[in-house]
Amino acid sequence: MLVLKDPSLLKQQAYLAGRWVDADNGATLSVDNPADGQIIAKVPRMGADETRRAIEQAEAALPEWRDRTAKDRASLLRRWFELIMANQEDLALLMTTEQGKPLSEAKGEIAYAASFIEWFAEEAKRVYGETIPSPLPDRRLLVLKQPVGVCAAITPWNFPAAMITRKVGPALAAGCTVIVKPASQTPLTALALAELAARAGLPDGVLSVLTGAAREIGGELAANPSVRKLSFTGSTEVGRELMAACAPTIKKLSLELGGNAPFIVFDDADLDAAVEGAIASKYRNAGQTCVCANRLFAQAGIHDAFVEKLAQAVAKLKVGTGNTPGVQIGPLIDQAAIAKVEAHIADATQRGARLISGGKRHELGGNFFTPTVLSGVDMTMQIAYEETFGPVAPVFCFQSEAEVVKMSNSTVFGLASYFYSRDIGRIWRVAEALEFGMVGINTGLISNEVAPFGGVKQSGLGREGSRHGLDEYLELKYLCLAGL
Ligand code: ADP
Repeated sequence: MLVLKDPSLLKQQAYLAGRWVDADNGATLSVDNPADGQIIAKVPRMGADETRRAIEQAEAALPEWRDRTAKDRASLLRRWFELIMANQEDLALLMTTEQGKPLSEAKGEIAYAASFIEWFAEEAKRVYGETIPSPLPDRRLLVLKQPVGVCAAITPWNFPAAMITRKVGPALAAGCTVIVKPASQTPLTALALAELAARAGLPDGVLSVLTGAAREIGGELAANPSVRKLSFTGSTEVGRELMAACAPTIKKLSLELGGNAPFIVFDDADLDAAVEGAIASKYRNAGQTCVCANRLFAQAGIHDAFVEKLAQAVAKLKVGTGNTPGVQIGPLIDQAAIAKVEAHIADATQRGARLISGGKRHELGGNFFTPTVLSGVDMTMQIAYEETFGPVAPVFCFQSEAEVVKMSNSTVFGLASYFYSRDIGRIWRVAEALEFGMVGINTGLISNEVAPFGGVKQSGLGREGSRHGLDEYLELKYLCLAGL
């Protein structure tokens, strides 16, 4: 049973322009607990009509919101941040129940999610323009930054809170209004965040959260000319579709898509630190993050020792339901996720990889899978070029720096990458040569609100977090003042 300190945070209606509403036709979709398959709640299954209304309301709310002072918007965001932190435990429990991750990780995600609201509340006050020395004596040239307008955010289930706040935070700070479509697996965290935004005093229409049919809601958000920007986090396939759907109206786009992160351990690395980093990067959220290490490359000199230490550490990971104390690995999101993990392991072992530990469904059954380590993996195996999104660490052996850089870069993705080395020359060379948007050096955890998160190649467009994250929601306007 889901028992919240504040039961009014469990919402079973969508938040459309300041009102809690059902779908026009009364349709619902069930939200279940991936740990036991129990239905937790039902939320409206909305479609294109409700989306159109939310867009109209967002457009109507825009002028007043845009014209407020940045300080005013900032203090409202600050209040929202404080309410999120004050309700951290309830929000974490909601998240664990609908998503499965351990409660400690869920609490961490709520704090991480809130940090984006705090950060962008502060940054709202620093949207500076420019003056440019004029090439002509009678002119003054200026650049203003103005909000893009009505924005849409489509978000995934693996980070039910943070993927929303790192889009909505900068959008609201900039003076945009936003419509959010959370993942159908995890709408409850999103709706609770909307309730707290309302309590913070966000004006009606500035934020809507619509639950329901992805294609219908997403289709309307992408096609409607009043939406000026779409920000999406999810799979590369859906990102590609949305990019095409946004083409007719030339929308601004931010895309945070799949990754295939290399995690490289050189001979000169601190091996214990590398194992610790690999565990943090690979098994967080049961391997279901787009920045999880997907391919572990160990240099020949330390390969065997690394595999042995990694297997020892993996054997200690505690699997269970997210709200059991001490659990580090919860269930995967659904059976399709389990099937993908099994397929990757089967393909790798058939092609000659060695199963060091795990490799099978967990005795708890359902969506639980045993943390797995494979060695002897090579570039022909599916696991080398597809994102696994599960608790499987495939270890490759390599000889030289040049070889591992080439292997790391031989993917269409370019989100996160990691390597361990103590050699300062190598650190610079490899960091510069990796074709990824982010490089963790001697660490497996790199995300925070002050740094730019995002990918190159088919991992996406744009950056989230940091001061650059705000620019994604701002347009430059050039003023040429003549005849002085
Ligand atoms: P994941 O693999 O994380 O489930 P998806 O890309 O399938 O990634 O989903 C991410 C988000 O995109 C979710 O909110 C989902 O409902 C939404 N989505 C899925 N398919 C579409 C689509 N065709 N159009 C718009 N949104 C979609």
